[in-house]
Amino acid sequence: MGFEAIIGHQQQILLLENAIQHQRVAHAYLFDGPDGIGKKQVAQIFARIILCENSSACGHCNACANTAAGSHPDFHAVQAEGDSIKIEQIRALQAQLVLRSFSGRGKICLIDDAELMTREAANALLKTLEEPAAGTFIILISSHPEVLLPTILSRCQKISFSRLPAQELARHLCQELSVTPAAATVLAAVSDGSISKALGQNQDLYLKKRVELIQALSALSATSTIQTFEFAQYLKGEKDLLDEILGIFEIFFRDLLLHKQGQPQAAMINQDLMPLIQQQVEMLSTPQILTKIEAVDQARRYLARNINIHLAMDHMLMQITHA
Ligand SMILES: [Zn+2]
Repeated sequence: MGFEAIIGHQQQILLLENAIQHQRVAHAYLFDGPDGIGKKQVAQIFARIILCENSSACGHCNACANTAAGSHPDFHAVQAEGDSIKIEQIRALQAQLVLRSFSGRGKICLIDDAELMTREAANALLKTLEEPAAGTFIILISSHPEVLLPTILSRCQKISFSRLPAQELARHLCQELSVTPAAATVLAAVSDGSISKALGQNQDLYLKKRVELIQALSALSATSTIQTFEFAQYLKGEKDLLDEILGIFEIFFRDLLLHKQGQPQAAMINQDLMPLIQQQVEMLSTPQILTKIEAVDQARRYLARNINIHLAMDHMLMQITHA
């Protein structure tokens, strides 16, 4: 499996492919950018290509089999043990890196979440970065490069990764999950350009429950006291998913606002709920929609600060239904 398996990041991949092709692979790279967008996957494939007997991550040679199994003697992966990467781990890595390359293709090391290196570990690694042995390639992966020592940063060639454009992610999700384009658009939008988030455990929430939740919320009014009470109870019971659920409500109210302002359907996230959006927009004024958005936003802030969930939900639904 080569770079063709990666969604997006074309420029970064081109840079790496060029480096391999012209034998100008740097001794140290820093792959930085937000979590969950595929930095590590790119690094792993880059390593496979370098070690592959056919220089292509062919997936058939011994080298590819060994790297995939995590048992290639020239491939080393370092990740946090507990909440940090410790100096012992860097020393163990250095002991490996001084050995001759088993395959003759070099030795590659991936350090994931590099910002979790303790100061001692970082200082130890610095020595290796300052005097890189021929044929050693180190890739630091980090979503918080600002935490790394400037001396480390200056030794690495930086390749920055960004979130995938929602459209690109949606296209991919459409193929990968065989969901409808409308559902894929929602999933891409709510997952903020992160593939792992989009493919993660909350898929069911965004694809199935989202519609039910929005319908239930829209059906509430100032006079439906019992339904409002029951809905509040339900939300309180969804403690673990509550922030995501509130995010869904916020996006829905934003869609209402966009529609109210005459934006085209393509600008909206819940494109599969257009009839409901239209119906709501006819009933609501712009200030009313803004009040609802603010109510959800405030509830999310309360939850983030661990303020009583019961009060926060009651207050939010009161604001929403009385707006
Ligand atoms: Zn191969």
